[in-house]
Order: sequence, then C-alpha cells, then structure tokens
Amino acid sequence: MAPLKVLVGVKRVIDFAVKVRVAPGGHKVQDQGVKHSLNPFCEIALEEAVRLRERGQANEVIAASVGTRQSQDALRTALAVGADRAVLVEVPEGAEPPGPRQVALALAKLVERERPLLVMLGKQAIDDDCNQTGQILAAILDWPQGTFLSQLDLDPGSGSGSGSGSIRIQREVDGGLERLRLRLPALLTADLRLNQPRYATLPNIMKAKKKPLELLPLEKLLGGPPPASRLRVLRLEEPPVRQGAQRVESVAELVERLAAAGRL
Ligand code: AMP
Repeated sequence: MAPLKVLVGVKRVIDFAVKVRVAPGGHKVQDQGVKHSLNPFCEIALEEAVRLRERGQANEVIAASVGTRQSQDALRTALAVGADRAVLVEVPEGAEPPGPRQVALALAKLVERERPLLVMLGKQAIDDDCNQTGQILAAILDWPQGTFLSQLDLDPGSGSGSGSGSIRIQREVDGGLERLRLRLPALLTADLRLNQPRYATLPNIMKAKKKPLELLPLEKLLGGPPPASRLRVLRLEEPPVRQGAQRVESVAELVERLAAAGRL
C-alpha cells in the first residue's frame, strides 16, 4: 500500500482547565493572559495521523492552523508530537477571528495546494463548540466525510497517486457505532475515543523548533479578502451560579422537601 499525505487542521484555544470569563462589554471571552493549548479534539486527530505515519501508511503529516501569529505555539506543539511541517494561514492581529466557514474556505485552498488524500480535523473546537468546520470543508471539496471517528483502518490499495483507495471507519452515532467504507480522498473528524494522544516530550519540543513552519497570509491564499462572517455574536453571558446542594437524611424527607418546593 502506497503511503499517503495527511493534512490536519489544528486550532489554538483557551486551555480546557481554564475557567472562561466573559470580557467587559459582553461580546467576547477574556482571552488575554490566559493559558492556551491545542484544542483537545485536534490533538486526537493529529495523534491518529502521526500513528499512520509511524506505521508507514502515511508519508507526511502537515499541521495547519488559521489564526493570528499566536497560533504558532499550537503549531509548534503539533510539530513536537510528530507533524512533519506546519502552515499558519495568518490572520492579522485584531481582525475578526475566522469562523468555521472562513476556516473551511482557507483549508480548502490549502488542500488544492497540498493535495492530501486525507484531511483530519477535530470533531469540534472547545471554544466555539461549533462542530461545523469538517462538514463545511467536505461540502466545499465534495469529498466523502466520516465525522465523530472512533476507529480508522486503511484498506490495502489506499495510497497516494491511485486516488482509488478506500478506508474503513467506525463513527459514534446516537444509537451506537456505525461502520462505513469511504473512498479517498476523504475528510475525517476525530471523536474522543479514537485514541489517547501522546504528550510532547522536551527533546521533541527542542527538535520541533527546527521543523518547517510556513506563514501564509490568509488574503494571499484566498486571492482576496475572506468573505464576511454570516454570524454575529449578540451577547455572551456567564451561566448562572449553581445553588449549593442540600443533604437529606431519608427518602421521606426528600419527598417532603420536594413537595414543599412545589416540585412534585
Ligand atoms: P469547529 O467547527 O469550530 O467546532 O472546529 C472543528 C475542527 O475544525 C477543529 O477541531 C479543528 O480541527 C478545525 N478548525 C477549527 N478552527 C480552526 C482553525 N482556526 N484553524 C485550523 N483548524 C481549525
């Protein structure tokens, strides 16, 4: 089986352990001075791509991010866990952060340039929780898509050049697991149980500094300004503070209290 090229979309997000606060004004979250990391679902997508390369089934893993220069740190992490090279599709500082449609348009242009047989994304970014970018990108490319991936197997015959290979996947759906065979090229989005991503080790972080990281302005890639977003954030609010729990001594007391509160 000839090895294939994999493009992985990775997003820099506020770290999952940070308590997110709404910034004054109520239109964005407080993202200055807080820890950022690779989006966890992107880590899973990347891990799967790196494992394909380690098994000799992929010959190159390219990590791509659409964002400001700050996203370089996410790409360096991607390089440290095994991507061969990285591309930052650069958005000017202070510009409107690109949403799923703009990111998908940029990644589609990158696919045109790089010609991967597999594009892997996370199922969702934990900052916007959109769960849209993979689906929009598959529609733009007119490629088969396997979302919410929990297992991936390459069929013999899949590989660069042939364009006729296929992959077998398992995806998580509401009622259980769905198994599909997809023709290559294909787009996949990673769910939580696909794998357990590795940590970047210190030696690999050092080595990653020497791997290529290309900066490509978004407008140059698209051949003009990106289309305006069709979404407008009206207001952000923090969720209501939870009321403290109360301990009851017996079921009878629980029923009594629920009745008194008018909940029965
Ligand atoms: P979303 O549709 O925003 O929930 O994001 C789903 C997935 O799309 C993420 O896990 C990433 O793999 C990819 N993605 C979203 N935004 C970006 C971005 N700015 N740069 C690169 N990939 C992205």
